Amino acid sequence: MEISEIQVDGYEKVVRCLDEATSLHAIIAVHDTTLGPALGGMRMLPYVSEDEALFDVLRLARGMTYKSAVAETGLGGGKSVVIGDPAKLKSKPFFHAMGRFIDSLEGRYITAEDMNIGIRDLELVRETTRWVTGLSRESGSSGNPSPYTARGCLHGLRAVLEELHGSPSFKDRRVLLQGVGAVGGALAVLLKDAGAHVIICDINERRVQELRKQHGFEAVPDETHLGVECDIYAPCARGAGLNDDTIPKLRCKAVAGCANNQLLEVRHGESLRDAGILYAPDYVINAGGIINVSVELLPGGYDEDVALRRIDRIYDQLKLVFKIAREEDITTRDAAARLAERRLAEGRRAASS
Ligand code: NAD
Repeated sequence: MEISEIQVDGYEKVVRCLDEATSLHAIIAVHDTTLGPALGGMRMLPYVSEDEALFDVLRLARGMTYKSAVAETGLGGGKSVVIGDPAKLKSKPFFHAMGRFIDSLEGRYITAEDMNIGIRDLELVRETTRWVTGLSRESGSSGNPSPYTARGCLHGLRAVLEELHGSPSFKDRRVLLQGVGAVGGALAVLLKDAGAHVIICDINERRVQELRKQHGFEAVPDETHLGVECDIYAPCARGAGLNDDTIPKLRCKAVAGCANNQLLEVRHGESLRDAGILYAPDYVINAGGIINVSVELLPGGYDEDVALRRIDRIYDQLKLVFKIAREEDITTRDAAARLAERRLAEGRRAASS
């Protein structure tokens, strides 16, 4: 196995691994460990080049620093990418090699699930390094993050309603969800239980019908959902859904959902503000999963009660983001970044004093 360093400005450590025996080609980026070890998922994709993989891992690692800083997980930001076709390359020796690569950073980077990497893969990685989180609950780990992400979103939505209407009550508020998969589906049920009028859409028609039958949600076609009048539009499917085409069609007072990277470009945060729509920055409201995982690393190990209490603080973090945006007359997207940078600066000051 050959491990070599890639020098990247603004990143603490970026390393590449090439392992001829297993065809493993991977990169780990440790962006910032001021607030704790760098935690971020492992993603496997058939990137066309190492440069493309490097671009992705750097962007994602930096995003994790900001997400954890705002959520106060006591962690820093990092990420790993494995280059190649998941259908062809995955094997026990392959993931054992990945584990040894992660282990070479001696805990500075801690991994978890991400695109094309499941619990079974991570269990193999765990055989050669202890720096793995998000394994099964039976093994003492924190398990599936989706219900926790949904719960965090619910508390974030309470903060959104309070900002909009002066009250966090869901009673008779109309919430439109795009995407009712693992997180969106769970969030829809939580919202209904909290008294909201829930409207759903998804490209998976079977899933929509199933949820409609079970819970009585209103359903709308995915193609026309943007024009549905509602208090909150919750994107819970995919990224880049907020752009020049979609924003003018929105008939909501706020956008707040679990999908990652909702804004196609930074400037779309401004477009939402100009349209009078309150935006809950995605990485603030969807932090429930990472908060849950972070509890595994506490001295006593995973404790669900501790995790839930910390997840519920997403309400306070979002309120703080909205306050900064109001007071400093900036977008909520910029306010979240400012909050993260302040916490990092405080961490650096504390470390040097
Ligand atoms: P999922 O795959 O379980 O669900 C996604 C749902 O969206 C599916 O039902 C799918 O049919 C639907 N969908 C996909 N494309 C669509 C489209 N174009 N229009 C309408 N519906 C579409 O995924 P998930 O785990 O629920 O995650 C949803 C989003 O939340 C993703 O962006 C994910 O990155 C983000 N997220 C998830 C977690 C977590 O804990 N799972 C944490 C943070 C962020």
